[in-house]
Amino acid sequence: MSPQIVKSVGQAIRYTKTDKSRIIFDEAVIDTLMCYRQNSSLKVEAGGLLLGRHLKGGSHIAVDLVSEPMRGDRRTRTSFFRGRGHERFAHECWHNSKGVFAYLGNWHTHPCMYPLPSETDFDDWRNVLKNDIYEGKNLYFVIVGTKGLACWEGCSQHGKFVKLEEYIFP
Ligand SMILES: [Zn+2]
Repeated sequence: MSPQIVKSVGQAIRYTKTDKSRIIFDEAVIDTLMCYRQNSSLKVEAGGLLLGRHLKGGSHIAVDLVSEPMRGDRRTRTSFFRGRGHERFAHECWHNSKGVFAYLGNWHTHPCMYPLPSETDFDDWRNVLKNDIYEGKNLYFVIVGTKGLACWEGCSQHGKFVKLEEYIFP
């Protein structure tokens, strides 16, 4: 899989961040996430990283692409462990875009309609906020359920997570 720019077609999804600026998910990104919904008992959890741009002239951010499940991940019906390939993919995107595509957070699926983070998720997110390298003080965490997805904003300053609006699939 080689990094590519996903062009925006049709409508993107916009969430209001806690600082009132926007986080915009490209429609192609939402389509990709929807493909991994665990809407059959055979589908295991999926996940990856969120990548995109800090938009000029404001604190808006655009999620332009995501890494998808790959070799080295460990996946079951109720768990997902990211392999090292995702970091390599993120670094490659950053490098190939000459530093435009930044690391913005991560995503994974849950086998339920409307997702809520588990204690394991909060532990992982706290870990990521503390140890990963990123621009600014926030990272974003998406959980994809079978009927909708939701996004949480994590803040490295107080280690808190705020749920942004939920998006219900059409
Ligand atoms: Zn989870």
